[in-house]
Amino acid sequence: MNRIKHFFKTFLLWELLVGLKLTGRYFFTKKITVQFPEEKTPTSPRFRGLHALRRYPNGEERCIACKLCEAVCPALAITIEAGPRAEDGSRRTTMYDIDLFKCIYCGFCEESCPVDSIVLTRISDYSIEHRGENIMTKQKLLAVGDWQERIIAKDRELDRPYR
Ligand code: SF4
Ligand code: SF4
Repeated sequence: MNRIKHFFKTFLLWELLVGLKLTGRYFFTKKITVQFPEEKTPTSPRFRGLHALRRYPNGEERCIACKLCEAVCPALAITIEAGPRAEDGSRRTTMYDIDLFKCIYCGFCEESCPVDSIVLTRISDYSIEHRGENIMTKQKLLAVGDWQERIIAKDRELDRPYR
């Protein structure tokens, strides 16, 4: 009996029809595939992506070279050198490097900063193609900050109840 059943199932391409039924069911349902990078999934205002250094609205860099972020970083990814600025004698960083290969995106640097200078942005799609590009220098960090400032400021507003 089983052999006859098997014969007819094979003859009528039964398994193919079962597969097509499943395909047909999903063909008309809402698509959940995200067409990255044209489309992106929603991210939290607390997302910890690529780092940035922020400026005040008048263009002055926020960082006061207190080195708290360097001290708190568990991965020893931050290297800072500092000194008095020539124009006004205020203490500023002369070097601020973050090694992306060492960073574990814990966010401790952001939490420790007293002036909200170093932040982790929502940027998650970045790549490193050449040796040395893993080092985010002060210039690169400030450039990311300038580029993302509007989004960073908005995220701060959204996240205010938790701060
Ligand atoms: S996110 Fe964490 S590991 Fe990365 S630089 Fe900041 S403190 Fe260091
Ligand atoms: S980024 Fe913030 S915590 Fe780090 S040195 Fe500058 S002011 Fe201090």
